[in-house]
Amino acid sequence: MATDIRFKRVLLKVSGEALMGRQGFGIDVAVADRIAGDIAEARELGVDVSVVIGGGNIFRGVAVASKGGDRVTGDHMGMLATVINALALRTSLAKLGIDAIVLSAISMPEICQSFSQRVAQEHADAGRVVIFAGGTGNPFFTTDSAAALRAAEMGAEALMKGTQVDGIYSEDPKKNPNAERFDRLSHDEVLQRGLAVMDVAAVALARENRIPIVVFSIHEPGGFAQILRGEGRATIVSD
Ligand code: UDP
Repeated sequence: MATDIRFKRVLLKVSGEALMGRQGFGIDVAVADRIAGDIAEARELGVDVSVVIGGGNIFRGVAVASKGGDRVTGDHMGMLATVINALALRTSLAKLGIDAIVLSAISMPEICQSFSQRVAQEHADAGRVVIFAGGTGNPFFTTDSAAALRAAEMGAEALMKGTQVDGIYSEDPKKNPNAERFDRLSHDEVLQRGLAVMDVAAVALARENRIPIVVFSIHEPGGFAQILRGEGRATIVSD
């Protein structure tokens, strides 16, 4: 029931890694289709969803920098990777009859519209799923920071971070099965404990704009809608 819904407008961050599925690289279309289905379920609950998509399944800037290359060029390559993923997700949403629009922070008008807050707001108000590509448009940032930024710009009530696991842990639970799992944390605690769920810039921006971060597993089919209904397992970061 609509009264049970925690948030009416959210920004979903999907990492590139999530789109990769079990493959070592690239896009698993079945996974993209499933994530599109999760977004469709959320919309059926009456929740406005916009999406920031990562690019780590295709390219990360540090890969160039770590081999002696130019970091800025590497980051440009990484931002282009996010555009490829955004087009894949738009395609998956279109298969479900959902009108979605890709807005890129780096202009490439033959491929998609350029980002501006006003244009994004207009598309969201028209009921479209806005997919933000190109990160922040600047090197040395991540798509997590882009997610916090777009969440603030869109007036999102929460930044929903879909991850590989069901919340925030003291350490990577895949490496240490005894890692502590948290149900609730403040933004300050995430920063002070150096918890590696999002980069510092992203958490600080969310804190400054009083945006809760909800960390949940993107691999749980139907999990996104469950969390929006206030069910399922997630870590909530709020003040
Ligand atoms: N990137 C960037 N500026 C941004 C966002 C992303 O330069 O504002 C580049 C950076 O090289 C990054 C890559 O794009 O490694 C892919 O983004 P990210 O690593 O955040 O993707 P994810 O881990 O979510 O798949």
